[in-house]
Amino acid sequence: MNFEFSEEQEQFRKILRDFAKEELLPHYTKWDREGITPRHLWKRLGDLGVNGLRIPEEYGGSGADCVTTGIAAEEIGRGDFNLTYAVMLNALIGEIIAKHGSADLKGEWLPQIASGDKIVGIAITEPSAGTDAGGIQSTAKLEGNYYVLNGEKSGISVATCGDAFIIFAKTDPSLGNKGISAFLVPAELDGLETKGYEDMGNIPIGRGSLYMNDVKVPVSNLIGSENKGFSQVMNGFDLSRLLIGLQCVGTAMQSIDETIEHVKIRKSFGRPLATYQAVSFSLVTHFTQLELIKWQAYRGLWLRDKNLDHSKESSSVKWLGPKYSVEAIHECLLLNGHYAYTKEMPLEQRLRDVIGLEIGDGTAQANQMVIAKGIIGKEFRTY
Ligand SMILES: Cc1cc2nc3c(=O)[nH]c(=O)nc-3n(C[C@H](O)[C@H](O)[C@H](O)COP(=O)(O)OP(=O)(O)OC[C@H]3O[C@@H](n4cnc5c(N)ncnc54)[C@H](O)[C@@H]3O)c2cc1C
Repeated sequence: MNFEFSEEQEQFRKILRDFAKEELLPHYTKWDREGITPRHLWKRLGDLGVNGLRIPEEYGGSGADCVTTGIAAEEIGRGDFNLTYAVMLNALIGEIIAKHGSADLKGEWLPQIASGDKIVGIAITEPSAGTDAGGIQSTAKLEGNYYVLNGEKSGISVATCGDAFIIFAKTDPSLGNKGISAFLVPAELDGLETKGYEDMGNIPIGRGSLYMNDVKVPVSNLIGSENKGFSQVMNGFDLSRLLIGLQCVGTAMQSIDETIEHVKIRKSFGRPLATYQAVSFSLVTHFTQLELIKWQAYRGLWLRDKNLDHSKESSSVKWLGPKYSVEAIHECLLLNGHYAYTKEMPLEQRLRDVIGLEIGDGTAQANQMVIAKGIIGKEFRTY
């Protein structure tokens, strides 16, 4: 066993930690308050090599391993939770296109994703199918050199600012979830419309719905084989779920660090808050929970790098990472007293932001279903 990061990985962590502290943290609340997607920061992540971590070198990325990608998720999370969507989406989508996209798609999209010039989202969820993703109703019908897409997607991150989306639709509805295919759909195509939501958090992410009305997508934009979209692409969620755990842990650990500084200084009854065990043990509890998730996440990423099964590890991190992070941030908010309840401090926003990823990319129950399948067996699959 070896729990050490390489020297290169430690250097990368340091660069990103400094960047997060100096360039992200001071502006984290600005994008939320002003409702802006900071596209220039997606570009900045491109300069730092973060967007292209899971993109091969020949397409402008670095082809880094999953553990290194986890470091980026954790460190960017310390500065700006919403910008971690760039780490997670670009890793997930970069991998999907690199593994299953045509040569043309790779050549056109991967360099622009790596540089941060283009933002690409992924659209599975529909008004009547979320956890039961195989139950989607959008259709894609082959007509000559085009697939014609119809249907509605809901809850999609970067809906309002995405330049393209990987959209899942049924190419053969008679095959159930085996008849689903994935397509790279540029946002400017005729018949594709988007509408943003007034969300509780993750405001700069511009979540919303996509409406497809006879959208003509070239055949070359099919990703992977027809009717195999689900099985080929779903494996990518084992990566995004591990990254989400680390994004949340990074944000929560930053909150704990700030709160430790506060309780050392703030006094009640003549003594620093930190000298009361009710205060220190509470911080200890949350710190310990987050450390457990952090190492389970890096273990999952290490397993993925070794091509070993990691679905249940990934789901455990996705289930408990956001949950423990929300609990930790909530406690930090309380320990900072009434000022933390104002918008002068970032804690209320962190709480709102992280709660979103208790739902996005699979709820607690959805992940428990995956773990049940892993430890009890496929034949006792739970619903
Ligand atoms: C911040 C955020 C970002 C998102 N980004 C994207 C995105 O980029 N792309 C995308 O496609 N989607 C995205 N989503 C949508 C998300 O993936 C879905 O919301 C999620 O999968 C749950 O689906 P649902 O909302 O339809 O809830 P439902 O599936 O209706 O579930 C409702 C509740 O019932 C529970 N439940 C459902 N089935 C069972 C069962 N069998 N046993 C026990 N409990 C069950 C669920 O756990 C949940 O608590 C995002 C959502 C959020 C909040």
